[in-house]
Amino acid sequence: MNKKGLLIVISGFSGAGKGTVVKQLIKKYNYSLSVSATTREPREGEVDGREYYFKTKEEFQNLIDYNGFIEWAQYVENYYGTPRAFVEEEMEKGHHVILEIEVQGALNIKNQYKDALLIFITPPSAKELRNRLVGRGTEDAQTVEKRMKQAQKETKDMVNYDYIVVNDDLEECVQTVHGIIQCETCKLSNNKEFIEEITNQLNEQ
Ligand code: 5GP
Repeated sequence: MNKKGLLIVISGFSGAGKGTVVKQLIKKYNYSLSVSATTREPREGEVDGREYYFKTKEEFQNLIDYNGFIEWAQYVENYYGTPRAFVEEEMEKGHHVILEIEVQGALNIKNQYKDALLIFITPPSAKELRNRLVGRGTEDAQTVEKRMKQAQKETKDMVNYDYIVVNDDLEECVQTVHGIIQCETCKLSNNKEFIEEITNQLNEQ
C-alpha cells in the first residue's frame, strides 16, 4: 500500500529559531522540504532554488494565474508562495512534506487540506525573543521593534495551530517536533485506507 505523505506546516515568530529547527529535521530525518517562490531579493549567501525560487512580480503573478501555488501570501512588502507540483507529487509518493510558512499561508493550507498538521514554534518568552533578535546582530533596533510588533500580531493566530512547541533547547525542540509528526502518522484519520485494506485481507482469508 502506498500511503500518502503528510503535509506539515511549521510557523513561528521571526527569531523563534524555526529555520534552524526545520534544517535539523531535514538533515536528520527523511522529510521533504518545499522550496517557496518569493519576490524578495536574495540575502547574502542565498541560492536560487535552494532557499527560495527568486521571481519577479510578473513571474509570481503568472504562477498565481496558472494555479501554480497551493497557497501564497504577502508578508511585509513581498510575496511568498508554495509551488503546487512538488508538494502534491511528494505526498503522492508517500513522503512527508514540510512547509515553513507564515500564519496566513498556514491557515489557507488548513482550509484546503483538512489533514494538514500545523506546528507553531515559539521562544519561551517575549524577553527571550527580543534577546535572540538583538543577539543575531543582523537587524537594527528599528527592525527588531518591527519584528516584535509582528510577533505580537501573530499571537492571535496561534490558536489555529494543532501544536505549540517551545524552542528553548534546539535538540529537544527538534525531537519534540519529530515525535509529533510520528504520532500523527498513527492517527486514525490518517489510516483509513490501511484499516480497509487489512479488513479486506482478513475477510478474504
Ligand atoms: P523571509 O523573507 O524571512 O525568508 O520569510 C518571511 C516569512 O515568509 C517567514 O515567516 C517565512 O516562513 C514565510 N514564508 C516563506 N515561504 C512562504 C510561502 O511559500 N508561503 C507563505 N505564506 N509564507 C512563506
